[in-house]
Amino acid sequence: SQPVLAVVGRPNVGKSTLVNRILGRREAVVQDVPGVTRDRVAYDAYWGGRKFTLVDTGGWEPDATGLQAAVAAQAELAMQTADAVLLVIDATVGATATDEAVSKVLRRSKKPVLLAANKVDDDRLLADTASLWSLGLGEPYPVSALHGRSSGDLLDAILKAL
Ligand code: GDP
Ligand code: MG
Repeated sequence: SQPVLAVVGRPNVGKSTLVNRILGRREAVVQDVPGVTRDRVAYDAYWGGRKFTLVDTGGWEPDATGLQAAVAAQAELAMQTADAVLLVIDATVGATATDEAVSKVLRRSKKPVLLAANKVDDDRLLADTASLWSLGLGEPYPVSALHGRSSGDLLDAILKAL
């Protein structure tokens, strides 16, 4: 069976937008309302002549208590069920306490973990993304899921990890 990449991260960081960017079509539901992706949704993705399963996660209510625990649980599940995990961060916000908590969980993964700094729509945010090395997940890949910026480098890294 084909390899599985799970996309995790806080609500509204742009996971579903990035999934759509990778799919090259609009299937994952994107909304301004955080937490709109209620469940884990799997899609067939094709890139660089490879086929893999892309799992979009969500369903975390940002106002609910225990968001951090819910995000960590989602990361645990992703680690157990996927071949590689992609953590998405909102570069316009920077690393939050929840991002640090989920990174801590993911650092224990024996499987490859990739880090995308999303919403880098222009060069002004590029320098800031270097600070995300501190999450201990290796190189942060700056991307703009909305505009398609540099997603090629991230996808090359994803293909290598799968
Ligand atoms: P999710 O909850 O993590 O799945 O996030 P969504 O994909 O639903 O996106 C949440 C919001 O962020 C939407 O309004 C998107 O249009 C916006 N968004 C996603 N990617 C980008 C990006 O690269 N740049 C900007 N400026 N906004 C983005
Ligand atoms: Mg979503």
